Amino acid sequence: MASSDRDKEELFARLSIEEINPGTFFGKWTKSKNTSMIKSYSPIDGSLLASVTSTSPSDYDKVILQSEKSYTEWVEIPPPKRGSIMLKIGQALRAAKEDLGMLVTLEAGKTISEGKGEIQEMIDIADFSVGLSRQLEGLVIASERPWHRMMEQYVPLGPIGIISSFNFPSSVWSWNAFIAAVCGDTSIWKPSSKTPLAAVAITKVLSRILEEEGAPQIFSLVTGSGEEIGSRMAADRRIKLISFTGSVQSGKKVSQLVSERLGKSILELGGNNAAVVSDNADIDIALKGVAFGALATAGQRCTSTRRVIVNDRIYDAFIKKMEKIYRDLPVGDPRKSGILVGPLIDESAVRKFESAISEAKRQGGKLLAGGTRASINGGKGFYVKPALIEAKPDMEICKTETFAPILYVFKYHAIDEAVRIHNSVPQGLSSSIFTRDLLESEYFISHRGSDCGIVNVNTGTAGAEIGGAFGGEKDTGGGRESGSDAWKNYMRRQTITINYGKELPLAQGVEFKI
Ligand code: NAD
Repeated sequence: MASSDRDKEELFARLSIEEINPGTFFGKWTKSKNTSMIKSYSPIDGSLLASVTSTSPSDYDKVILQSEKSYTEWVEIPPPKRGSIMLKIGQALRAAKEDLGMLVTLEAGKTISEGKGEIQEMIDIADFSVGLSRQLEGLVIASERPWHRMMEQYVPLGPIGIISSFNFPSSVWSWNAFIAAVCGDTSIWKPSSKTPLAAVAITKVLSRILEEEGAPQIFSLVTGSGEEIGSRMAADRRIKLISFTGSVQSGKKVSQLVSERLGKSILELGGNNAAVVSDNADIDIALKGVAFGALATAGQRCTSTRRVIVNDRIYDAFIKKMEKIYRDLPVGDPRKSGILVGPLIDESAVRKFESAISEAKRQGGKLLAGGTRASINGGKGFYVKPALIEAKPDMEICKTETFAPILYVFKYHAIDEAVRIHNSVPQGLSSSIFTRDLLESEYFISHRGSDCGIVNVNTGTAGAEIGGAFGGEKDTGGGRESGSDAWKNYMRRQTITINYGKELPLAQGVEFKI
Protein backbone atom coordinates (compact mmCIF):
# COMPACT_ATOMS: atom_id res chain seq x y z
CA MET A 1 0.00 0.00 0.00
CA ALA A 2 1.43 3.40 -0.97
CA SER A 3 2.21 5.59 2.01
CA SER A 4 -0.28 8.26 0.87
CA ASP A 5 -3.03 5.57 0.84
CA ARG A 6 -2.03 4.52 4.35
CA ASP A 7 -2.03 8.18 5.51
CA LYS A 8 -5.51 8.59 4.06
CA GLU A 9 -6.81 5.44 5.77
CA GLU A 10 -5.40 6.56 9.11
CA LEU A 11 -6.87 10.05 8.66
CA PHE A 12 -10.29 8.62 7.81
CA ALA A 13 -10.14 6.29 10.83
CA ARG A 14 -9.32 9.21 13.15
CA LEU A 15 -12.22 11.24 11.70
CA SER A 16 -14.59 8.21 11.69
CA ILE A 17 -15.13 8.53 7.95
CA GLU A 18 -16.01 5.39 6.05
CA GLU A 19 -15.83 4.28 2.44
CA ILE A 20 -19.59 4.88 2.21
CA ASN A 21 -20.90 7.48 4.65
CA PRO A 22 -24.41 8.33 5.66
CA GLY A 23 -25.13 11.84 4.46
CA THR A 24 -28.08 12.59 6.73
CA PHE A 25 -27.83 13.49 10.40
CA PHE A 26 -30.79 14.30 12.62
CA GLY A 27 -29.53 13.29 16.02
CA LYS A 28 -28.56 10.00 14.43
CA TRP A 29 -26.87 9.08 11.17
CA THR A 30 -28.99 7.66 8.37
CA LYS A 31 -28.07 6.14 5.04
CA SER A 32 -31.20 7.01 3.07
CA LYS A 33 -32.33 4.11 0.90
CA ASN A 34 -32.91 4.31 -2.88
CA THR A 35 -31.16 7.63 -3.28
CA SER A 36 -28.17 8.54 -5.35
CA MET A 37 -24.63 8.31 -4.08
CA ILE A 38 -22.53 11.48 -3.94
CA LYS A 39 -18.97 10.66 -4.85
CA SER A 40 -16.24 12.80 -3.36
CA TYR A 41 -13.19 12.97 -5.61
CA SER A 42 -9.89 14.57 -4.70
CA PRO A 43 -8.92 17.32 -7.16
CA ILE A 44 -5.29 16.54 -6.29
CA ASP A 45 -5.24 13.39 -8.43
CA GLY A 46 -8.86 12.75 -9.40
CA SER A 47 -9.07 9.71 -7.09
CA LEU A 48 -12.29 8.70 -5.36
CA LEU A 49 -12.01 9.57 -1.67
CA ALA A 50 -15.31 8.14 -0.44
CA SER A 51 -19.06 8.22 -1.14
CA VAL A 52 -21.88 9.82 0.77
CA THR A 53 -25.52 8.76 0.55
CA SER A 54 -27.83 11.62 -0.35
CA THR A 55 -30.91 12.49 1.68
CA SER A 56 -34.29 11.05 0.63
CA PRO A 57 -37.46 13.19 0.79
CA SER A 58 -38.77 11.23 3.80
CA ASP A 59 -35.48 11.55 5.67
CA TYR A 60 -35.45 15.26 4.82
CA ASP A 61 -38.74 15.59 6.70
CA LYS A 62 -37.29 13.73 9.69
CA VAL A 63 -34.40 16.21 9.72
CA ILE A 64 -36.77 19.17 9.83
CA LEU A 65 -38.90 17.63 12.59
CA GLN A 66 -35.84 16.83 14.70
CA SER A 67 -34.42 20.33 14.16
CA GLU A 68 -37.74 21.84 15.29
CA LYS A 69 -37.74 19.60 18.38
CA SER A 70 -34.10 20.41 19.24
CA TYR A 71 -34.97 24.09 18.90
CA THR A 72 -37.63 23.87 21.60
CA GLU A 73 -34.98 22.52 24.01
CA TRP A 74 -32.05 24.65 22.88
CA VAL A 75 -33.96 27.93 23.00
CA GLU A 76 -34.64 27.37 26.73
CA ILE A 77 -30.91 27.28 27.50
CA PRO A 78 -29.72 30.80 28.46
CA PRO A 79 -27.39 32.33 25.83
CA PRO A 80 -24.23 32.37 28.03
CA LYS A 81 -24.76 28.65 28.72
CA ARG A 82 -25.06 28.13 24.95
CA GLY A 83 -21.77 30.04 24.74
CA SER A 84 -20.09 27.68 27.17
CA ILE A 85 -21.06 24.77 24.90
CA MET A 86 -19.56 26.68 21.96
CA LEU A 87 -16.36 26.96 24.01
CA LYS A 88 -16.20 23.15 24.12
CA ILE A 89 -16.86 23.04 20.39
CA GLY A 90 -13.95 25.43 19.78
CA GLN A 91 -11.71 23.20 21.91
CA ALA A 92 -12.75 20.10 19.97
CA LEU A 93 -11.97 21.88 16.70
CA ARG A 94 -8.55 22.88 18.05
CA ALA A 95 -7.86 19.22 18.83
CA ALA A 96 -9.01 18.11 15.35
CA LYS A 97 -7.48 21.03 13.42
CA GLU A 98 -4.66 19.09 11.72
CA ASP A 99 -6.94 16.23 10.63
CA LEU A 100 -9.84 18.37 9.46
CA GLY A 101 -7.41 20.71 7.68
CA MET A 102 -5.90 17.75 5.85
CA LEU A 103 -9.36 16.56 4.84
CA VAL A 104 -10.10 20.01 3.38
CA THR A 105 -6.80 19.77 1.48
CA LEU A 106 -7.70 16.33 0.10
CA GLU A 107 -11.28 17.19 -0.79
CA ALA A 108 -11.03 20.82 -1.94
CA GLY A 109 -7.38 20.84 -3.07
CA LYS A 110 -6.29 23.70 -0.77
CA THR A 111 -2.67 23.96 0.31
CA ILE A 112 -1.92 22.54 3.77
CA SER A 113 -1.65 26.06 5.18
CA GLU A 114 -5.00 27.11 3.69
CA GLY A 115 -6.67 23.85 4.75
CA LYS A 116 -5.60 24.46 8.36
CA GLY A 117 -6.53 28.13 7.99
CA GLU A 118 -10.06 27.08 7.13
CA ILE A 119 -10.38 25.17 10.43
CA GLN A 120 -8.71 28.05 12.29
CA GLU A 121 -11.47 30.26 10.94
CA MET A 122 -14.03 27.90 12.50
CA ILE A 123 -12.14 28.12 15.81
CA ASP A 124 -12.09 31.93 15.57
CA ILE A 125 -15.82 32.13 14.97
CA ALA A 126 -16.46 29.66 17.81
CA ASP A 127 -14.43 31.96 20.13
CA PHE A 128 -16.31 34.99 18.81
CA SER A 129 -19.65 33.29 19.46
CA VAL A 130 -18.65 32.59 23.09
CA GLY A 131 -18.16 36.34 23.72
CA LEU A 132 -21.27 37.19 21.73
CA SER A 133 -23.36 34.88 23.90
CA ARG A 134 -23.08 37.48 26.70
CA GLN A 135 -23.65 40.48 24.42
CA LEU A 136 -26.93 39.86 22.61
CA GLU A 137 -28.18 43.26 23.55
CA GLY A 138 -31.35 45.20 22.80
CA LEU A 139 -32.25 48.87 22.97
CA VAL A 140 -34.30 51.21 25.17
CA ILE A 141 -35.90 54.04 23.18
CA ALA A 142 -37.28 57.32 24.56
CA SER A 143 -41.08 57.22 24.38
CA GLU A 144 -43.10 60.31 23.45
CA ARG A 145 -45.85 59.27 25.90
CA PRO A 146 -45.68 59.77 29.68
CA TRP A 147 -45.29 56.64 31.85
CA HIS A 148 -44.30 54.61 28.80
CA ARG A 149 -41.20 52.67 27.94
CA MET A 150 -40.15 51.46 24.47
CA MET A 151 -37.64 48.71 23.86
CA GLU A 152 -36.24 46.62 21.10
CA GLN A 153 -35.30 43.03 21.70
CA TYR A 154 -34.06 40.15 19.57
CA VAL A 155 -35.73 36.75 19.69
CA PRO A 156 -34.45 33.49 18.16
CA LEU A 157 -35.84 32.39 14.80
CA GLY A 158 -36.03 28.58 14.97
CA PRO A 159 -34.44 26.14 12.51
CA ILE A 160 -32.41 27.88 9.82
CA GLY A 161 -30.95 26.42 6.59
CA ILE A 162 -27.36 26.83 5.44
CA ILE A 163 -26.49 25.99 1.83
CA SER A 164 -22.74 26.23 1.24
CA SER A 165 -20.32 26.29 -1.68
CA PHE A 166 -17.40 23.94 -2.36
CA ASN A 167 -14.59 26.47 -1.99
CA PHE A 168 -15.04 27.02 1.75
CA PRO A 169 -16.32 23.57 2.66
CA SER A 170 -16.42 24.19 6.41
CA SER A 171 -15.70 27.74 7.59
CA VAL A 172 -18.56 29.52 5.82
CA TRP A 173 -20.99 27.05 7.40
CA SER A 174 -19.57 27.82 10.85
CA TRP A 175 -19.89 31.60 10.30
CA ASN A 176 -23.63 30.96 10.15
CA ALA A 177 -24.14 27.92 12.35
CA PHE A 178 -22.11 29.07 15.38
CA ILE A 179 -23.57 32.58 15.48
CA ALA A 180 -27.07 31.19 14.95
CA ALA A 181 -26.45 28.69 17.77
CA VAL A 182 -25.69 31.29 20.44
CA CYS A 183 -28.69 33.26 19.17
CA GLY A 184 -30.82 30.20 20.04
CA ASP A 185 -31.43 28.75 16.56
CA THR A 186 -30.82 25.26 15.27
CA SER A 187 -29.43 24.73 11.77
CA ILE A 188 -29.68 22.36 8.83
CA TRP A 189 -26.63 22.24 6.59
CA LYS A 190 -26.59 21.31 2.92
CA PRO A 191 -22.96 21.30 1.78
CA SER A 192 -21.81 21.33 -1.83
CA SER A 193 -21.94 17.90 -3.47
CA LYS A 194 -18.30 18.49 -4.43
CA THR A 195 -17.22 18.54 -0.76
CA PRO A 196 -19.62 16.43 1.32
CA LEU A 197 -16.94 14.58 3.33
CA ALA A 198 -15.74 17.63 5.24
CA ALA A 199 -19.35 18.24 6.28
CA VAL A 200 -19.76 14.64 7.46
CA ALA A 201 -16.48 14.76 9.45
CA ILE A 202 -17.29 18.11 11.08
CA THR A 203 -20.81 17.06 12.01
CA LYS A 204 -19.32 13.93 13.65
CA VAL A 205 -16.92 15.99 15.77
CA LEU A 206 -19.59 18.47 16.86
CA SER A 207 -22.38 15.96 17.53
CA ARG A 208 -20.05 14.12 19.92
CA ILE A 209 -19.45 17.32 21.89
CA LEU A 210 -23.17 18.14 22.04
CA GLU A 211 -23.87 14.63 23.30
CA GLU A 212 -21.15 14.87 25.96
CA GLU A 213 -22.59 18.20 27.10
CA GLY A 214 -26.12 16.79 27.29
CA ALA A 215 -27.23 19.41 24.74
CA PRO A 216 -29.78 18.82 21.97
CA GLN A 217 -28.37 18.00 18.54
CA ILE A 218 -28.64 21.46 16.99
CA PHE A 219 -26.49 20.87 13.88
CA SER A 220 -28.27 18.68 11.32
CA LEU A 221 -26.96 17.62 7.93
CA VAL A 222 -28.65 16.88 4.60
CA THR A 223 -26.86 16.07 1.37
CA GLY A 224 -27.90 16.09 -2.27
CA SER A 225 -28.00 18.27 -5.31
CA GLY A 226 -28.85 21.94 -5.18
CA GLU A 227 -31.78 21.48 -7.54
CA GLU A 228 -33.33 18.78 -5.33
CA ILE A 229 -32.44 19.30 -1.68
CA GLY A 230 -31.28 22.93 -1.92
CA SER A 231 -34.44 24.14 -3.61
CA ARG A 232 -36.60 22.02 -1.27
CA MET A 233 -35.01 23.91 1.62
CA ALA A 234 -35.44 27.28 -0.06
CA ALA A 235 -39.17 26.64 -0.52
CA ASP A 236 -39.73 25.17 2.95
CA ARG A 237 -41.68 27.50 5.25
CA ARG A 238 -40.49 25.55 8.30
CA ILE A 239 -36.99 26.93 7.69
CA LYS A 240 -37.00 30.44 9.11
CA LEU A 241 -33.92 31.75 7.30
CA ILE A 242 -31.91 30.50 4.34
CA SER A 243 -28.27 31.50 4.34
CA PHE A 244 -27.05 30.77 0.84
CA THR A 245 -23.44 30.89 -0.34
CA GLY A 246 -22.78 30.22 -4.01
CA SER A 247 -22.84 31.62 -7.50
CA VAL A 248 -25.01 34.53 -8.61
CA GLN A 249 -26.87 32.17 -10.94
CA SER A 250 -27.88 29.70 -8.18
CA GLY A 251 -28.46 32.53 -5.71
CA LYS A 252 -31.07 34.11 -7.97
CA LYS A 253 -33.04 30.83 -8.06
CA VAL A 254 -32.81 30.45 -4.28
CA SER A 255 -33.79 34.06 -3.72
CA GLN A 256 -36.89 33.61 -5.89
CA LEU A 257 -38.04 30.53 -3.97
CA VAL A 258 -37.51 32.20 -0.59
CA SER A 259 -39.24 35.40 -1.74
CA GLU A 260 -42.26 33.46 -2.98
CA ARG A 261 -42.91 32.42 0.62
CA LEU A 262 -41.84 35.87 1.91
CA GLY A 263 -39.05 34.21 3.86
CA LYS A 264 -35.76 35.62 5.07
CA SER A 265 -32.47 35.01 3.30
CA ILE A 266 -28.82 35.93 3.49
CA LEU A 267 -27.26 35.85 0.03
CA GLU A 268 -23.49 35.56 -0.24
CA LEU A 269 -22.90 35.32 -3.97
CA GLY A 270 -20.12 35.71 -6.50
CA GLY A 271 -17.58 38.52 -6.66
CA ASN A 272 -15.46 40.14 -9.34
CA ASN A 273 -12.97 41.86 -7.12
CA ALA A 274 -10.41 44.44 -8.15
CA ALA A 275 -7.29 46.02 -6.69
CA VAL A 276 -6.18 49.52 -7.63
CA VAL A 277 -2.41 50.00 -7.61
CA SER A 278 -1.49 53.67 -7.37
CA ASP A 279 1.83 55.22 -8.38
CA ASN A 280 2.06 56.10 -4.65
CA ALA A 281 1.91 52.45 -3.60
CA ASP A 282 4.58 50.48 -1.80
CA ILE A 283 5.22 48.25 -4.79
CA ASP A 284 6.41 45.20 -2.83
CA ILE A 285 3.29 45.23 -0.66
CA ALA A 286 1.12 45.74 -3.74
CA LEU A 287 2.76 42.85 -5.60
CA LYS A 288 2.33 40.50 -2.67
CA GLY A 289 -1.25 41.63 -1.98
CA VAL A 290 -2.33 41.29 -5.60
CA ALA A 291 -0.55 37.94 -6.05
CA PHE A 292 -2.07 36.44 -2.90
CA GLY A 293 -5.50 37.77 -3.87
CA ALA A 294 -5.32 36.37 -7.39
CA LEU A 295 -3.59 33.05 -6.68
CA ALA A 296 -4.61 31.80 -3.22
CA THR A 297 -6.95 28.79 -3.41
CA ALA A 298 -6.08 28.75 -7.13
CA GLY A 299 -8.32 31.77 -7.71
CA GLN A 300 -11.32 29.94 -6.24
CA ARG A 301 -12.26 32.39 -3.51
CA CYS A 302 -15.31 34.60 -3.65
CA THR A 303 -12.87 37.40 -2.77
CA SER A 304 -10.16 36.43 -5.31
CA THR A 305 -8.62 39.39 -7.12
CA ARG A 306 -9.83 39.09 -10.71
CA ARG A 307 -8.91 42.56 -11.97
CA VAL A 308 -5.94 44.81 -11.21
CA ILE A 309 -6.11 48.48 -12.20
CA VAL A 310 -2.61 49.95 -12.37
CA ASN A 311 -1.55 53.60 -12.66
CA ASP A 312 0.00 54.34 -16.06
CA ARG A 313 3.17 55.85 -14.51
CA ILE A 314 4.15 52.50 -12.95
CA TYR A 315 2.23 50.16 -15.27
CA ASP A 316 5.15 48.73 -17.29
CA ALA A 317 7.40 48.10 -14.30
CA PHE A 318 4.57 46.60 -12.22
CA ILE A 319 3.39 44.27 -14.99
CA LYS A 320 6.94 43.07 -15.65
CA LYS A 321 7.21 42.05 -11.98
CA MET A 322 3.80 40.37 -12.06
CA GLU A 323 4.81 38.42 -15.18
CA LYS A 324 7.89 37.11 -13.37
CA ILE A 325 5.78 36.04 -10.36
CA TYR A 326 3.43 34.19 -12.72
CA ARG A 327 6.29 32.55 -14.65
CA ASP A 328 7.99 31.25 -11.47
CA LEU A 329 4.83 30.11 -9.67
CA PRO A 330 5.04 26.82 -7.79
CA VAL A 331 1.91 25.03 -9.06
CA GLY A 332 1.42 21.47 -7.87
CA ASP A 333 0.29 18.94 -5.32
CA PRO A 334 -1.00 21.11 -2.45
CA ARG A 335 0.25 18.62 0.16
CA LYS A 336 3.85 19.46 -0.79
CA SER A 337 5.64 22.26 1.03
CA GLY A 338 6.41 25.33 -1.05
CA ILE A 339 3.42 24.85 -3.36
CA LEU A 340 1.36 28.02 -3.61
CA VAL A 341 -1.21 27.03 -6.24
CA GLY A 342 -3.03 23.71 -6.04
CA PRO A 343 -5.62 22.25 -8.40
CA LEU A 344 -9.01 23.53 -9.51
CA ILE A 345 -11.94 21.62 -8.10
CA ASP A 346 -12.75 19.52 -11.18
CA GLU A 347 -12.50 19.09 -14.94
CA SER A 348 -15.42 21.41 -15.61
CA ALA A 349 -13.60 24.22 -13.74
CA VAL A 350 -10.54 23.67 -15.98
CA ARG A 351 -12.75 23.88 -19.08
CA LYS A 352 -14.28 27.14 -17.85
CA PHE A 353 -10.76 28.50 -17.28
CA GLU A 354 -9.73 27.55 -20.83
CA SER A 355 -12.84 28.92 -22.46
CA ALA A 356 -12.63 32.24 -20.55
CA ILE A 357 -9.06 32.68 -21.82
CA SER A 358 -10.08 31.98 -25.44
CA GLU A 359 -12.95 34.41 -25.04
CA ALA A 360 -10.67 37.07 -23.54
CA LYS A 361 -8.30 36.74 -26.50
CA ARG A 362 -11.23 36.93 -28.93
CA GLN A 363 -12.41 40.14 -27.24
CA GLY A 364 -8.97 41.74 -27.62
CA GLY A 365 -7.08 40.61 -24.51
CA LYS A 366 -3.39 39.70 -24.61
CA LEU A 367 -2.16 36.69 -22.63
CA LEU A 368 0.98 37.77 -20.74
CA ALA A 369 1.68 34.59 -18.77
CA GLY A 370 0.25 31.14 -17.97
CA GLY A 371 -3.17 30.17 -19.27
CA THR A 372 -2.57 26.49 -19.98
CA ARG A 373 -3.12 23.16 -18.22
CA ALA A 374 -0.27 22.04 -15.98
CA SER A 375 0.69 18.37 -16.00
CA ILE A 376 1.09 17.40 -12.33
CA ASN A 377 0.68 13.98 -10.68
CA GLY A 378 1.04 12.22 -14.04
CA GLY A 379 -1.67 14.30 -15.69
CA LYS A 380 -4.22 13.32 -13.05
CA GLY A 381 -5.84 16.11 -11.09
CA PHE A 382 -7.01 19.48 -12.35
CA TYR A 383 -4.03 21.82 -12.47
CA VAL A 384 -3.60 24.99 -14.51
CA LYS A 385 -0.98 27.67 -14.87
CA PRO A 386 -2.66 30.87 -13.64
CA ALA A 387 -3.29 33.39 -16.40
CA LEU A 388 -2.29 37.05 -16.50
CA ILE A 389 -4.15 38.91 -19.23
CA GLU A 390 -3.78 42.50 -20.41
CA ALA A 391 -7.31 43.64 -21.11
CA LYS A 392 -9.73 46.53 -21.52
CA PRO A 393 -12.23 47.16 -18.70
CA ASP A 394 -15.24 47.18 -21.02
CA MET A 395 -14.55 43.65 -22.34
CA GLU A 396 -17.62 41.55 -21.49
CA ILE A 397 -15.53 38.65 -20.15
CA CYS A 398 -13.97 40.95 -17.53
CA LYS A 399 -17.40 41.64 -16.10
CA THR A 400 -18.14 37.98 -15.36
CA GLU A 401 -16.73 35.86 -12.55
CA THR A 402 -14.72 32.93 -13.91
CA PHE A 403 -14.00 30.84 -10.82
CA ALA A 404 -10.37 30.17 -11.72
CA PRO A 405 -7.00 31.96 -11.54
CA ILE A 406 -7.35 34.58 -14.27
CA LEU A 407 -6.19 38.11 -13.54
CA TYR A 408 -7.12 40.90 -15.96
CA VAL A 409 -4.82 43.92 -15.99
CA PHE A 410 -5.99 47.44 -16.85
CA LYS A 411 -4.29 50.82 -16.99
CA TYR A 412 -5.60 54.09 -15.47
CA HIS A 413 -4.43 57.68 -15.26
CA ALA A 414 -6.42 59.46 -12.52
CA ILE A 415 -8.01 58.07 -9.36
CA ASP A 416 -11.61 58.85 -10.42
CA GLU A 417 -11.00 56.86 -13.61
CA ALA A 418 -9.65 53.93 -11.52
CA VAL A 419 -12.80 53.99 -9.38
CA ARG A 420 -15.03 54.15 -12.47
CA ILE A 421 -13.33 51.05 -13.88
CA HIS A 422 -13.44 49.39 -10.47
CA ASN A 423 -17.20 49.88 -10.08
CA SER A 424 -18.10 49.00 -13.67
CA VAL A 425 -19.01 45.33 -12.96
CA PRO A 426 -22.31 43.86 -11.72
CA GLN A 427 -20.77 42.27 -8.59
CA GLY A 428 -19.77 44.16 -5.44
CA LEU A 429 -17.98 41.94 -2.94
CA SER A 430 -14.38 42.96 -2.14
CA SER A 431 -12.05 45.74 -3.24
CA SER A 432 -8.67 47.18 -2.40
CA ILE A 433 -6.37 50.07 -3.09
CA PHE A 434 -2.61 50.11 -2.68
CA THR A 435 -1.43 53.63 -1.95
CA ARG A 436 0.49 55.63 0.67
CA ASP A 437 -1.39 58.77 -0.32
CA LEU A 438 -3.97 59.63 2.35
CA LEU A 439 -6.18 61.57 -0.06
CA GLU A 440 -6.40 58.66 -2.50
CA SER A 441 -7.13 56.18 0.22
CA GLU A 442 -9.86 58.37 1.74
CA TYR A 443 -11.37 58.89 -1.71
CA PHE A 444 -11.49 55.13 -2.28
CA ILE A 445 -13.16 54.31 1.05
CA SER A 446 -15.67 57.19 0.83
CA HIS A 447 -19.09 57.08 -0.90
CA ARG A 448 -17.27 58.39 -4.03
CA GLY A 449 -15.07 55.31 -4.09
CA SER A 450 -15.53 51.54 -4.02
CA ASP A 451 -19.12 50.26 -4.24
CA CYS A 452 -18.25 46.95 -2.53
CA GLY A 453 -19.18 45.48 0.85
CA ILE A 454 -15.50 45.04 1.71
CA VAL A 455 -12.96 47.81 1.13
CA ASN A 456 -9.27 47.37 1.94
CA VAL A 457 -6.29 49.73 1.90
CA ASN A 458 -2.79 48.31 1.41
CA THR A 459 -4.00 44.76 1.80
CA GLY A 460 -5.54 42.55 -0.87
CA THR A 461 -9.15 41.69 -1.66
CA ALA A 462 -8.90 38.16 -0.23
CA GLY A 463 -8.41 36.91 3.31
CA ALA A 464 -11.05 38.54 5.52
CA GLU A 465 -10.99 38.25 9.32
CA ILE A 466 -14.07 36.89 11.08
CA GLY A 467 -14.54 39.99 13.28
CA GLY A 468 -16.10 42.14 10.55
CA ALA A 469 -19.46 41.65 8.88
CA PHE A 470 -18.77 39.79 5.62
CA GLY A 471 -20.70 40.25 2.39
CA GLY A 472 -21.18 42.33 -0.71
CA GLU A 473 -23.47 44.57 -2.70
CA LYS A 474 -25.14 44.48 -6.14
CA ASP A 475 -25.16 40.96 -7.66
CA THR A 476 -23.23 39.67 -4.64
CA GLY A 477 -26.60 39.71 -2.90
CA GLY A 478 -26.37 42.21 -0.03
CA GLY A 479 -25.98 39.61 2.74
CA ARG A 480 -23.81 40.03 5.83
CA GLU A 481 -22.58 37.24 8.06
CA SER A 482 -19.79 36.34 10.49
CA GLY A 483 -18.74 39.16 12.88
CA SER A 484 -19.84 42.64 13.94
CA ASP A 485 -23.65 42.81 14.32
CA ALA A 486 -24.38 40.17 11.65
CA TRP A 487 -25.89 38.10 14.50
CA LYS A 488 -29.03 40.24 14.16
CA ASN A 489 -29.82 38.35 10.93
CA TYR A 490 -30.32 35.16 12.93
CA MET A 491 -32.95 36.67 15.24
CA ARG A 492 -36.21 38.51 14.80
CA ARG A 493 -36.57 42.03 16.12
CA GLN A 494 -39.43 43.01 18.38
CA THR A 495 -40.36 46.57 19.27
CA ILE A 496 -42.03 46.59 22.67
CA THR A 497 -44.06 49.40 24.25
CA ILE A 498 -45.04 49.21 27.92
CA ASN A 499 -47.57 51.54 29.53
CA TYR A 500 -47.00 51.59 33.30
CA GLY A 501 -49.29 54.61 33.93
CA LYS A 502 -52.95 54.97 34.88
CA GLU A 503 -54.12 56.42 31.56
CA LEU A 504 -53.97 55.53 27.87
CA PRO A 505 -52.32 58.43 26.02
CA LEU A 506 -52.14 57.75 22.27
CA ALA A 507 -49.17 58.34 20.01
CA GLN A 508 -49.13 61.55 17.91
CA GLY A 509 -51.64 63.05 20.40
CA VAL A 510 -54.56 61.25 18.73
CA GLU A 511 -57.85 61.58 20.68
CA PHE A 512 -60.19 58.59 21.05
CA LYS A 513 -62.91 59.19 23.65
CA ILE A 514 -65.35 56.40 24.58
P1 NAD B 1 -22.89 26.88 -6.70
O1 NAD B 1 -23.83 28.02 -6.85
O2 NAD B 1 -22.73 25.96 -7.83
O3 NAD B 1 -23.32 25.98 -5.43
C1 NAD B 1 -23.39 26.49 -4.13
C2 NAD B 1 -24.37 25.66 -3.32
O4 NAD B 1 -25.67 25.89 -3.82
C3 NAD B 1 -24.16 24.16 -3.41
O5 NAD B 1 -24.42 23.57 -2.16
C4 NAD B 1 -25.19 23.74 -4.44
O6 NAD B 1 -25.57 22.39 -4.32
C5 NAD B 1 -26.32 24.68 -4.11
N1 NAD B 1 -27.24 24.95 -5.22
C6 NAD B 1 -26.97 25.03 -6.54
N2 NAD B 1 -28.09 25.32 -7.24
C7 NAD B 1 -29.08 25.45 -6.33
C8 NAD B 1 -30.48 25.72 -6.42
N3 NAD B 1 -31.07 25.93 -7.59
N4 NAD B 1 -31.20 25.77 -5.28
C9 NAD B 1 -30.60 25.57 -4.08
N5 NAD B 1 -29.29 25.29 -3.93
C10 NAD B 1 -28.55 25.23 -5.04
O7 NAD B 1 -21.49 27.51 -6.25
P2 NAD B 1 -20.07 26.78 -6.07
O8 NAD B 1 -19.51 26.45 -7.40
O9 NAD B 1 -20.18 25.68 -5.07
O10 NAD B 1 -19.23 27.95 -5.38
C11 NAD B 1 -18.60 28.97 -6.08
C12 NAD B 1 -19.45 30.24 -6.09
O11 NAD B 1 -19.78 30.63 -4.75
C13 NAD B 1 -18.69 31.42 -6.67
O12 NAD B 1 -19.56 32.19 -7.45
C14 NAD B 1 -18.21 32.17 -5.44
O13 NAD B 1 -17.91 33.52 -5.68
C15 NAD B 1 -19.39 31.99 -4.54
N6 NAD B 1 -19.02 32.19 -3.15
C16 NAD B 1 -19.46 33.32 -2.52
C17 NAD B 1 -19.08 33.57 -1.21
C18 NAD B 1 -19.51 34.82 -0.49
O14 NAD B 1 -19.41 34.85 0.73
N7 NAD B 1 -19.97 35.85 -1.19
C19 NAD B 1 -18.27 32.65 -0.53
C20 NAD B 1 -17.85 31.50 -1.20
C21 NAD B 1 -18.24 31.28 -2.51
